[in-house]
Amino acid sequence: MRFTEFNFLPEVLEGIEASNYETATPVQEQVIPPILEGRDVIASAQTGTGKTAAFLLPVMNRLLKNHVDGHTGALIVVPTRELAIQISQHIEGLSYFTHLSSIAIYGGSGGDNFVAEKKALQNGADIIVCTPGRMIAHLNMGYVNMKGLQFLVLDEADRMLDMGFQDDISKIIKALPEKRQNLLFSATMPDKIRQLAKKIPPPPRRN
Ligand code: AMP
Repeated sequence: MRFTEFNFLPEVLEGIEASNYETATPVQEQVIPPILEGRDVIASAQTGTGKTAAFLLPVMNRLLKNHVDGHTGALIVVPTRELAIQISQHIEGLSYFTHLSSIAIYGGSGGDNFVAEKKALQNGADIIVCTPGRMIAHLNMGYVNMKGLQFLVLDEADRMLDMGFQDDISKIIKALPEKRQNLLFSATMPDKIRQLAKKIPPPPRRN
């Protein structure tokens, strides 16, 4: 399936073309349409399948259509700083022709970054990528504003549970509005991932 068949906004298509993507990978073909329709998605996808663009492209497209100034639109929670940096680079490439803002928030990045992270968490960035521990450090300070959040993405969810982040993820979810779209990606689908998905409230109804 070619990317022109998804009805993406022109500025999103430009980013796809600049990244030299021509046809969608199988996971992209499966998850892009339901995400564009506003549905929750749980997908089993390994690294290297194109899973990052599978959630980034429809999330970006929807955020461009429903832009809310001063609010964070999407929160992507990932297990490691390496993955946070990698996704953040993906966002930079794919959103190059849009006005979307983004920031990666992860541990071990020093005091200067903390100030920029706090500003984004208070005043909103369109897309925030974070590791659980660093996000909890900010949440504990009391200034995180997720009121306008439209998307929660849990990427490599099985790895996050293996690394012991279950409680942190639950705390993060409690700080988010209930009405939002949930996207969960995992290389494996053990029972504990299905349990985690059950804890996520039902999908919002959108017109
Ligand atoms: P990921 O599985 O998200 O880590 O992506 C693996 C690699 O595939 C990354 O370098 C992406 O830029 C690239 N990629 C993602 N989607 C496509 C596509 N439709 N066509 C060609 N390359 C892609």
